Amino acid sequence: MKIVNPATGATLANVPADALKAVHAKYQRARAAQPRWAARPIARRLAAIREFRAQVVARADVLARTLSEEVGKPLRQSRNELNALTARLDFFLAESARTLRDERVFASAEQKLEERISHEPLGVIANISAWNYPYFVGSNVFVPALVAGNAVLYKPSEFATLTGLHIADMMKAAGVPEDVFVPVVGDGATGAALLRQPVDGVFFTGSYATGAKIAASAGRRMIKVQLELGGKDPIYVTDDVDVKAAAAAVADGAFYNTGQSCCSVERVYVHESVHDAFVDAFVAEVKGFRVGDPLDESTYIGAITRKPQLAVLQRQVADALKKGATLRLGGRVLRRKGHWFEPTVLTDVDHSMAVMRDETFGPVIGIQAVADDDAAVDLMNDTDYGLTAGVYARDERRGRRVLARVNAGTVYWNCCDRVSPRLPWSGVKHSGIGLTLSTYGIQAFTRPKAWHLRAA
Ligand code: NAD
Repeated sequence: MKIVNPATGATLANVPADALKAVHAKYQRARAAQPRWAARPIARRLAAIREFRAQVVARADVLARTLSEEVGKPLRQSRNELNALTARLDFFLAESARTLRDERVFASAEQKLEERISHEPLGVIANISAWNYPYFVGSNVFVPALVAGNAVLYKPSEFATLTGLHIADMMKAAGVPEDVFVPVVGDGATGAALLRQPVDGVFFTGSYATGAKIAASAGRRMIKVQLELGGKDPIYVTDDVDVKAAAAAVADGAFYNTGQSCCSVERVYVHESVHDAFVDAFVAEVKGFRVGDPLDESTYIGAITRKPQLAVLQRQVADALKKGATLRLGGRVLRRKGHWFEPTVLTDVDHSMAVMRDETFGPVIGIQAVADDDAAVDLMNDTDYGLTAGVYARDERRGRRVLARVNAGTVYWNCCDRVSPRLPWSGVKHSGIGLTLSTYGIQAFTRPKAWHLRAA
């Protein structure tokens, strides 16, 4: 498999991909190794994750550079991802033992009865991952899965393979047996081969289109399936905000990671009384974003990781303009080596346009005026997705009232594009099923076993 730098078109590496036979051999090794791993005391499994964290810190410069080269992410943002990864690992290190401890839920001397719950590992799990935040979306799964005693067949995205191999190398150096954390390298065909193995759970991060196929293939097998999928995340800006500050924050939420985040702001609704001032401030902010070499420290907008996405962005802009939108900034593919798209701002948009309905996953945003909070709520909920949604409002009660009516896994008041390890990460509708992070996301990789214990 050829690994290409999306910012330059240069070949970075050629990596052998795993075909069905190789995937099956890896599965068998993982199956054989898992019981020994699960039998280790949790403190020893956590010690390996602590060492993995030390490896991440020690190798941070190389890891950040590799990530920027293979996905086109600005170097600063790659570093941010690695820093936040260590915070995430700290959460798992601090909370896992307590969360996975056996629970005694009932005890009666009179009835000579005790009832307990233990948290058993699922066994061997498939972790099929995305490229946009490979350290985040990967670690949300493989870290708690390993801590709980599972073996993990980890398929990084074909667009983040070198990062996936770094992760495997660090796991090995940290003392996780090679057959317990196993990288499976390749594209969708390799992912499909992995799903043909009799794994005990499938944990997928990626697009709705692929997620729907995976759910269908796993459905008949009665195994645990978790899907973290896309979004069309809205922000509503009310009329009582500091317009400039809100515009700067929302622009960052829309364009950070070149708009290629699952929780990027994908559509903006602004109260009509502040709409024009907001748009002016927003456009001024976006004009200040430096587009360029991802390895340059001052770059804010990097390359589009997957070439086919350029056509999606072009189509969404053309469709909006045809239906009456106004182009305030950008709108075109940049003519240079690699895959690049201008930061693009559209106004006078509505829900007849794909840019307000379909996941954009790039540096393109539509801003729509709304008359009041009710209209904003209706539009925010008018979507197939439900990952995150946010409100910028000075008045907390008003902000919370709006958010209570929005159907999404995560809601934000005066913030956006934010993930916390302490809170569950989940979506509704086409944004997925199941969750990662928080103590629920530690238990997600176990099944509760019920113990009825009656003394003789
Ligand atoms: P994708 O669906 O194209 O690929 C995801 C993974 O699935 C890759 O590893 C790919 O090789 C694999 N795959 C493809 N076809 C397969 C098949 N038939 N069987 C098994 N595996 C297969 O998605 P992507 O481009 O890597 O990621 C972008 C998408 O991920 C966006 O929609 C984004 O919103 C979403 N995402 C969601 C979250 C979240 O937490 N909800 C996080 C990051 C990304």
